[in-house]
This record gives sequence, structure tokens and C-alpha cells, in this order.
Amino acid sequence: MADCLFCAIVAGDIPATRVGETDRVLAFRDINPQAPVHVLVIPKEHYPNVAALAAADPPLLAEVIGQVRQIAEAEGVSETGYRVVLNTGDAAGQTVHHVHAHLLGGRPLTWPPG
Ligand code: 5GP
Ligand code: ZN
Repeated sequence: MADCLFCAIVAGDIPATRVGETDRVLAFRDINPQAPVHVLVIPKEHYPNVAALAAADPPLLAEVIGQVRQIAEAEGVSETGYRVVLNTGDAAGQTVHHVHAHLLGGRPLTWPPG
């Protein structure tokens, strides 16, 4: 999709530190990490948020979460624990409107979130 930051990362037009990839899914490090491990996992195809993805292509949503699991293993946080966040809409603070799962770990995470 034109004017989408994460579509530009998928296309390779904007650089990112890639940590995992399948035919349909891409994982890369967040540019402004909030924890020692902060990776974003996205479908390569553009959906504005997780609700749209869940409605249109449940297997692709499952592949996103499967990639989160694999990256958590590779980053060494699967035993200690980690958080998966899908900010959805303005009130949740979603700033990039291409669905992305945040994988956060490597430090204790408090609850409730802000
Ligand atoms: P949101 O607030 O939409 O849930 O999260 C968007 C995330 O994208 C933020 O954590 C932000 O740091 C990250 N981000 C924004 N621009 C870039 C970029 O150009 N490259 C990377 N790797 N991450 C970005
Ligand atoms: Zn996009």
C-alpha cells in the first residue's frame, strides 16, 4: 500500500534489522525499543489492524503469532516470559496502521500497562 511505512520495510525501500521471515510474514527490531527484546512481527500483506486481519485471513494471523513464538525462542525469552501486544486504534496508541505484533521481553514487565 502506498504511503505505508511497514509496506516500505517489506519492499526493502526502508531499512530494518530483520530477525525472521517466511513467505508471508516478516519480523524486525523496533527502531525505539522499550525492552531488551522488542521485535515487530507483521504480515507482508497490508491490513490496517488485527481486527481486519482476523476477519480476512485467520491462518495469516496464526502465522504471525507462530513467528512471534519462534522469535521468542531465538531471542531467549520463551522460558522467562514475554508480552505480545497488538495496539488497535487511536485510543490504544496505534501509530502505524499496518498490523504489527510487538514482542517484548528481556526484563520484568509491569501490569496494568499505561
Ligand atoms: P504502534 O504504536 O503503532 O503500536 O507501534 C509502532 C511501532 O513502530 C513503534 O514501537 C515504533 O517505535 C516502531 N517504528 C516506527 N517507525 C519505525 C521504523 O522506521 N522502523 C522500525 N524498525 N520501527 C519503527
Ligand atoms: Zn502496509
